[in-house]
Amino acid sequence: MRMETSNPIRTEVLIIGAGPGGCTAALKLAQLGVDAVLVDKSRFPRDKVCGDALSGKVVRTLERLDPALAVELRQQSELLPSWGVTFVAPGGRSLRVPFSRNTGEGQAPGAILPRMQFDNFMLDAVKRDGRVRVIEGAEAKRFERTTDGWSIDLVHPAPPTANANCQLILDASGANSHFARHIAKLPMEPRHHCAGVRSYYSGVSGLDPQGFIELIFLKQLLPGYLWIFPLPNGRANVGLGLRSDVVRKRRVDLKALMIKLLAEHPQLKERFTHATMEGPIQGMGLPLASKRWPISGDGYMLIGDAAHLIDPFTGEGISHAMISGMHAADVAAGVLRSKGSVTSSALETYDQRVWKRLGKEIGISTRLQQLANHPWLFNFVVNKAVNNPALADTISSMFNDLDMRERLKNPRFYMDLLLGRSPRP
Ligand SMILES: Cc1cc2nc3c(=O)[nH]c(=O)nc-3n(C[C@H](O)[C@H](O)[C@H](O)COP(=O)(O)OP(=O)(O)OC[C@H]3O[C@@H](n4cnc5c(N)ncnc54)[C@H](O)[C@@H]3O)c2cc1C
Repeated sequence: MRMETSNPIRTEVLIIGAGPGGCTAALKLAQLGVDAVLVDKSRFPRDKVCGDALSGKVVRTLERLDPALAVELRQQSELLPSWGVTFVAPGGRSLRVPFSRNTGEGQAPGAILPRMQFDNFMLDAVKRDGRVRVIEGAEAKRFERTTDGWSIDLVHPAPPTANANCQLILDASGANSHFARHIAKLPMEPRHHCAGVRSYYSGVSGLDPQGFIELIFLKQLLPGYLWIFPLPNGRANVGLGLRSDVVRKRRVDLKALMIKLLAEHPQLKERFTHATMEGPIQGMGLPLASKRWPISGDGYMLIGDAAHLIDPFTGEGISHAMISGMHAADVAAGVLRSKGSVTSSALETYDQRVWKRLGKEIGISTRLQQLANHPWLFNFVVNKAVNNPALADTISSMFNDLDMRERLKNPRFYMDLLLGRSPRP
């Protein structure tokens, strides 16, 4: 049934979702001179359940998009620079892995910034640019294929509903995307999906003075982990994530488990004795990239979580949303400018470009996620690295060097460790 509508909106490209993926696509389309509308069902600033960690890839993607934006990002008052990651193995030993060999010099490679601020910063950049029209508080619904593109209802809380006509849809509407599930037919497969919960805390003790994020691998949580990500003024984002098939099999209540672990686990309870939870524990799904799906089709491209692009080992998805947003905008501009039609075969190049850029690291992370199932292997590597600075340095460079990371997949790496040798290149 058609709803009552106001004047239709006509545009070449409709971007659904103004998270990091949608905003990056909007900024890139503006630069490329493509007529686009960005629509989000929320009004910003809005929150998004997340760990809030921004990897070096986020900053590098912003630098490529607009160097001034990367500078502005670093000036956000709620941002905490991050110089590395601390892994805590199931046996309890910690390994501090810096992101760079020159910790403390120049700009920190990573950062932590609450999504309330980061996403608003991105949407604000789109609004200031002014070339892409932004519509907030309208949900894209009822996607109808027409002879020259799509007809979509943009439903506001109060009628009338607006109608949008476009040639191409860029779906960046996140992990619960209706379009991705029902039109592009990407299913939610529990084996390739993670459940995550998080809350903000103040007063957590032992936060890292150099903003190292902490990934704590507890035996009862494998292959998932608990995280503590520091924020300015002694606050922290604390959460845990576990693959959805494991959650179902073990019938875990993640929120209850998180409260129990923080109150009772010997590695955590003292750090949380004087901590205060700020607001409720909130949960959301993470569609993992451990299985590849077609991410474009007739008249559309999927971006970020809608395309199931989250790193299966680390849970990182913000940078992947931004990288895919850049590629989608580039491909869209190329096809539309050449007056070609946006058929599935014309857009296939988008899949190729995204997988060429992210495929290798996602492949490695998929293997690492499988390794995380083996606590003994984890303990073994961490115990060795704690006593072996050369190995710790090797692991550190793995964050910036994919070829190094690839070595973690190679049995020879573990054989070298077992025999007390420094891992060979
Ligand atoms: C618990 C948890 C912890 C995480 N931690 C990290 C982390 O520390 N670092 C990291 O890099 N990644 C992390 N991730 C992943 C990260 O949050 C996502 O990968 C990222 O938000 C994806 O961005 P996106 O632009 O694709 O989608 P989103 O950020 O989800 O944005 C989608 C937007 O679409 C809008 N929308 C949805 N449906 C419609 C519709 N029908 N019409 C209009 N608008 C619509 C929504 O309102 C929303 O604004 C975490 C995820 C979870 C769940």
